[in-house]
Amino acid sequence: MALMTGQAYIESLRELELEVYFMGQKITRVTEEPMFQPHIHTAAMTYELANDPEYREIMTATSNLTGETVNRFTHIHQSIDDLVKKVRMMRLLGQKTGTCFQRCVGLDALNAIYVTTFDMDRDRGTDYHEKFKNFLAHVQSKDLMSAGAMTDPRGDRSLRPSKQNSPDAYLHIKERTNEGIIVSGAKAHITGAINSHEIVVLPTRAMGADDADYAVSFAVPVNTEGVKYIFSRQTNDTRRLDSPLDSGNPKYAIVGGEAVIVFKDVFVPWERVFMAGEHEYAGQIVETFAGYHRSNYGGCKVGLADVVIGASDWVADAHGVGRASHIVDKLTEMISMAETCWSCALACSYEGAKTPSGAYNINPMLANVTKLNITRMVYEWMRIAQDIAGGKIITLPSEMDLTQPELREVLNECFRGREGVDVDDIFKMLRLIENMSVGAGLPEAMHGAGSPAAQKIMIARRSGIEQKRALAETIARIRPDKYFEKIVGLPETDYWKNVAARIAEQHHG
Ligand code: SF4
Ligand code: FE
Repeated sequence: MALMTGQAYIESLRELELEVYFMGQKITRVTEEPMFQPHIHTAAMTYELANDPEYREIMTATSNLTGETVNRFTHIHQSIDDLVKKVRMMRLLGQKTGTCFQRCVGLDALNAIYVTTFDMDRDRGTDYHEKFKNFLAHVQSKDLMSAGAMTDPRGDRSLRPSKQNSPDAYLHIKERTNEGIIVSGAKAHITGAINSHEIVVLPTRAMGADDADYAVSFAVPVNTEGVKYIFSRQTNDTRRLDSPLDSGNPKYAIVGGEAVIVFKDVFVPWERVFMAGEHEYAGQIVETFAGYHRSNYGGCKVGLADVVIGASDWVADAHGVGRASHIVDKLTEMISMAETCWSCALACSYEGAKTPSGAYNINPMLANVTKLNITRMVYEWMRIAQDIAGGKIITLPSEMDLTQPELREVLNECFRGREGVDVDDIFKMLRLIENMSVGAGLPEAMHGAGSPAAQKIMIARRSGIEQKRALAETIARIRPDKYFEKIVGLPETDYWKNVAARIAEQHHG
């Protein structure tokens, strides 16, 4: 059966023994570790919703490989409709979890590899695409979660991979054997790494001929020998260990449970290698991946905006100012910004196109604009949420004080709102806004899927600036304007000569 439930997903992780480090501790059973639970619950939502008939249309798709129904997070987009449903799925999951549900990085990696390996095989006579399709069929039939691993540590950013002092600044091929490749290095900031089944590795940038050993793409199971994980810290993360209330979103946390993945002499069999030295295609795979992932941000972050807009309205109402004109104005501003980003996500999906592989790609210009808007607007709507919620979001006492009988009465008095609203609920909602607007979610919106400068490079490259110059030159009468000539019925030079003569006559006559 291709579709796992949320619980079946969690069960499937129990069988995997990983080498994970967090705050100096070694953890081998990720499902038993309280720090990781909310991130696991969030990823489980990508499974659970696929089993709900209400969302089946959005959450599942028909595999182009097998004709079976698969979770959309393992699907290769076969149409514009698939691209649109993908961003609808992102918004839906953002609404249901209020955080990053992690599984999209793997989805985008699968699609980017599918598209690029097709072109490589066609141009170079390699057999990566067929091998990749076999891997994909495995992922789809078992409904696996793949962690897309792209970002290398990168050392001195001014030097190319092969010129770095340390070879491990970029993940690279150390050795090639008849059976496969041996790789070393690391991937940083990898979303959902410790609670996935597979790691799908992509190169991090365009590569030159000297960097061929760094142009590498492959997949390994998460528990492969030589792979270890160092889990990231986030603002207020350990609150979840001592107080569900204080942590703000104790069920699903915030951002995607990122980790550094270290590869030490890891063996990858050839059937799981999808690029090994074809440096000319590294740029394509990176750009394709980045385009897909940037389009997502107009879905997932807008889902989060829906939650924080709801929370802001709730708090204003609990404080008795829900109908105040300045509150309505602020909420409307938030909604308008969120829907602007949503429009971008829909636009880059509807403007997508079929690639030679048959898979559909988003419109890259519009996807980069989508993400660039997100890097600004998430800060703006979270700023308004903080404005509406008030200073309490950073001064609330903890749940530990709230549960002290001798403090409870005075705290109730301090923090109660209008008649009939439970003060505990006010705490819950304020903590949710704190969690979403003060913590790691903001820089994640900035840098996830690439920093703003990366989007601007792509936008500038596709800007068609020469065409825009030509437009201006035509209007400014520097270039000929064939339509104007048709409209006035004369060559343009003759027309302007006539105009000049008429003006001269007026002045002298
Ligand atoms: Fe998915 Fe958004 Fe998280 Fe990226 S940031 S993995 S698109 S939820
Ligand atoms: Fe992200």
